Amino acid sequence: MFVIRASHILCIVFCSQSFASLGTFWHITDLHWDPTYTVTDNPEGVCASNGARPVTNAGKFGHYLCDSPWDLINSSIHAMKDILPDPDFIVWTGDDTPHVPNEQLGVEAVVSIIGNITQIIKQVFPDTKVYSALGNHDYHPKSQLPPGPNSIYEQTTQLWQDWLEPESLHTFRAGGFYTERLLNRTGFRVLVLNTNLYYDQNNHTKNMDDPAGQFSWADEILTAAASNNEKVYIVGHVPPGFFEKKRHKPWFRPNFNRRYLDLVQRHHAVIAGQFFGHHHTDTFRMFKDSKGSPISVMFLTPGVTPWKTTLPGVADGANNPGIRVFEYDTSSLLVKDMVTYYLNLTHANVARARWEKEYRLTEAFQVPDASAASMHRVLERMATDHCHLQRYYDYNSVSYDLSPCNQACRADHVCSIREVDFDRYEICVKEEDAPSKGHALTPLLLSTALGLLVAFF
Ligand SMILES: [Zn+2]
Ligand SMILES: [Zn+2]
Repeated sequence: MFVIRASHILCIVFCSQSFASLGTFWHITDLHWDPTYTVTDNPEGVCASNGARPVTNAGKFGHYLCDSPWDLINSSIHAMKDILPDPDFIVWTGDDTPHVPNEQLGVEAVVSIIGNITQIIKQVFPDTKVYSALGNHDYHPKSQLPPGPNSIYEQTTQLWQDWLEPESLHTFRAGGFYTERLLNRTGFRVLVLNTNLYYDQNNHTKNMDDPAGQFSWADEILTAAASNNEKVYIVGHVPPGFFEKKRHKPWFRPNFNRRYLDLVQRHHAVIAGQFFGHHHTDTFRMFKDSKGSPISVMFLTPGVTPWKTTLPGVADGANNPGIRVFEYDTSSLLVKDMVTYYLNLTHANVARARWEKEYRLTEAFQVPDASAASMHRVLERMATDHCHLQRYYDYNSVSYDLSPCNQACRADHVCSIREVDFDRYEICVKEEDAPSKGHALTPLLLSTALGLLVAFF
């Protein structure tokens, strides 16, 4: 006689899940600590990172015209501990120093700022593995990261020693990048890149094909990963493609942008996710094969600093501080979901620092997971449905700028997400910003109005 035991029922309910268990990790980026931040009534005396803009009503947790005070850095790291105290690992994608002229920093100041933030992460998460990438602000002079050994790579190697496997030390010292098995598990790998070498502000790498040999190194690593049946996460700071808040604004030099795209197209089968920062905004980038099918997605996590960019042409480029949890399938590294938490800075300064859930991807955008196919659906719905576009746009600044995203805004965001390739982006912007696109509903509205007129007269 077959007896159904309670354990069988339990197994029917839970066992299917145990084969695909869910892992979690934090992604934090762009903390940009401004050690000069002081709460004062003198609008010129609050922070050195204000870009000569007067700062009024500064509060304990910061100001939208300034980089992060220590209270905000401290609050963000402790919020991570309160929300998810035991993640599998932490991804930290750099930019620790304030937006101030080079003369106000120096090698020592830069290293000491990286050191202070490293220390608080270690204090709060002593047993958690951290995959840490250098940002363009983690160097002196800023953005001038060299394609070879130097004292800042060396000192950062010392600071991050406990987080690096022995095999990572050599390439990190030599070029600021490394690879190791993800959590030392067979079949899983992380590739931490130094894409600051591809930044168009970096004068060292201006006429180079492959600074520090990073592209050919990554190509080799990914080729080996394929033959070893590994799945790989790519982590970096400066992303390829365009800034969605300023039309025609890329970060990479054209040859490097092409080469990065090639790398992803060649190896997308092993790349399970790409996690970058630098924008301070919440957005993503689609990668497609030659036929236009989605093959990979890059997630750009919002920054902790609320600093309103001084980049000319960006209207109101501040954001609320954001931090993000990724949920992934531990057997395939497929990104299942992401939850963004944020601090309403205005509220924090008048009441207390309350980090709240901003949104969960699958709930907010009605997709089953965060795969390339699902993110492609999110993008195409944004392109055609204003409600989706507006929701994305509110989250883009971490619920800071809630103004309507108009036709030009739609083209900027949709095209920068859809096309990482420089030429294809330009074509997209031309098409999406054409008057016919913005008035797609006009013929329908007209015919409805005409129908009503006919009905009434
Ligand atoms: Zn930054
Ligand atoms: Zn940056």
